Amino acid sequence: MSESRANGQTSADLPEHVDGVFVGAGHNAMVCAAYLARAGQRVLILEAAPHIGGGTTTDEITLPAFRHNLHAFFVRWTPEYAVWNDLDLDRYGVTSIYPDTQNAVPFDGGERALVTYADLDRSVAEIERISTADAAAYRRLYTDYTELVAKVDTPMRFAPPLPTDELVDLLSGSRLGRQYLAMDAQSPLDIVRGAFESEPVRSLVLFNVSVRGYLPILDVPGIGSIVALALANSQGARMVRGGTNEVARAIAAAVVDYGGTIVADAPVASIDVSGGRATGVTLANGRSVKTNYVVSGAPSPITMTELVGHEHLDPSLREELADYRWLEEALFGVHWALSERPAFTAEVYNPDVPTALNLALGYESSDDIEAHMHLVRSEENTADAPLHSSIPTLHDPSQAPAGHHTTFGWHFVPGPSTRGTWDEGAVEERVKALVETYRRYAPNVDRATLATASHSPDATERRIISMRGGDRHHGSFHPTNWGINRPSARMPGYATVIDGLYLCGASQHPGGSFHGQPGYNAAACVADDLGLDKWWQPVDIRAALRALD
Ligand SMILES: Cc1cc2nc3c(=O)[nH]c(=O)nc-3n(C[C@H](O)[C@H](O)[C@H](O)COP(=O)(O)OP(=O)(O)OC[C@H]3O[C@@H](n4cnc5c(N)ncnc54)[C@H](O)[C@@H]3O)c2cc1C
Repeated sequence: MSESRANGQTSADLPEHVDGVFVGAGHNAMVCAAYLARAGQRVLILEAAPHIGGGTTTDEITLPAFRHNLHAFFVRWTPEYAVWNDLDLDRYGVTSIYPDTQNAVPFDGGERALVTYADLDRSVAEIERISTADAAAYRRLYTDYTELVAKVDTPMRFAPPLPTDELVDLLSGSRLGRQYLAMDAQSPLDIVRGAFESEPVRSLVLFNVSVRGYLPILDVPGIGSIVALALANSQGARMVRGGTNEVARAIAAAVVDYGGTIVADAPVASIDVSGGRATGVTLANGRSVKTNYVVSGAPSPITMTELVGHEHLDPSLREELADYRWLEEALFGVHWALSERPAFTAEVYNPDVPTALNLALGYESSDDIEAHMHLVRSEENTADAPLHSSIPTLHDPSQAPAGHHTTFGWHFVPGPSTRGTWDEGAVEERVKALVETYRRYAPNVDRATLATASHSPDATERRIISMRGGDRHHGSFHPTNWGINRPSARMPGYATVIDGLYLCGASQHPGGSFHGQPGYNAAACVADDLGLDKWWQPVDIRAALRALD
């Protein structure tokens, strides 16, 4: 990967000593490293894979010139986003695309579809065609939740987790805080079914909750606030011109411009600890680098028990990490190279269906989603394969040869229990099921197909060694694994029980997805410990919550 050698470095000619070593060039580690490099630190990022960016891969896996986003595709990165702004990613030519048509959920066997837009009035008008009561409820909740997310949820994500008692105390002092607490006490399924009467609207909102990694826990009380985020953001999804990896490329370029070094093909085999302090890392090829501190973007249980080692952990922490709750599902993907775009039966009802950035195929009601939740929990596959899709080339023709298209289907399967089971037969069976679902809603898909390629949870792990069994969020969003409990009540946040060792990946608050928040929060934690000047403006979460009305 070019960035790995941007400053002429390979794992054969590493420096002997740097200020900070980062394990992995996932986006979170690169975000953290970029902030610290700009604060004057000499940072070195070591990536196991030949490519950088972790779960932001864009690759030509079907045919040449057809670019597929194998992992993150739906993103929130815009020039207004704090991290984008701070790191001035505009200077690297990265562009986010914000389609007018945001969601389409075909129903009535694909004869009709609920479509929502970036524009609230257009969304409400479409819902009105199905239910007047839901149109009014959607407008009211969208407005309420947008305020709740802007003033409560987002600041909490861009800050370290607070102890539960203190958080409840702070939130109890305001109208918005109390609304957040009341929502959070419920389950997403109960909130959505209580708020809307029509099944397509319920399905649209629950689908937007599920895609964040919540499908297997939709009926669990204690995570209801995710409905506010999902609904408020359901009209804000974006994609990246040229593919998601372009943002990772821009963050990597920022690291290098601030004086940092990124080396690919450099798996870290151990974090060296002496006298209770992290003193360096040793690579799989035997080379060592000494450092003042180590920041790991690999999941915390893997970092602590495999890279550091049990002998440095006390028995109760070892037990907590052994019981770590991994994500309860994984995504099985199929990617298509197409000669023409899929044409949906539901276009007769609403011609905007194909341009929806989020397409939910096979989830026509909340019952469909709930049934899938139960199957994933009992570690079974569905007979059919409901899927999450998009046609990226309708918004960015550069992702395929002229006049051609790409599409994909992501489908929830049980995880991580299926780790290592995705042999040829299992893959073929799921591909067949996904193609069948796509065909049901867009009958021309077979004729349009030039090539397909699958991406099973095992294939994800082959590309990203730390996404075991395809665990894309480095752990569950269950309430026992959230906030101050993530990754462990004994070791919340970003500092660890080893001096000079920090964690910055998706297993830290506020968890996975391509948003860089764990990396951003970890940078402030390291900067505080080292007494560095924080050149950016981190959120003072206590002050933000006290100031709420
Ligand atoms: C199929 C799929 C679809 C997804 N879709 C979306 C989406 O649409 N939107 C969204 O926001 N998110 C999506 N995600 C989730 C998102 O990709 C992840 O949550 C995100 O990548 C986590 O970022 P991270 O930096 O914490 O870790 P990772 O991306 O996992 O990066 C960790 C890096 O560390 C490296 N590493 C690990 N161990 C070592 C070691 N010992 N030595 C050296 N390097 C090491 C790995 O190789 C990897 O590059 C998706 C993920 C998958 C798999």
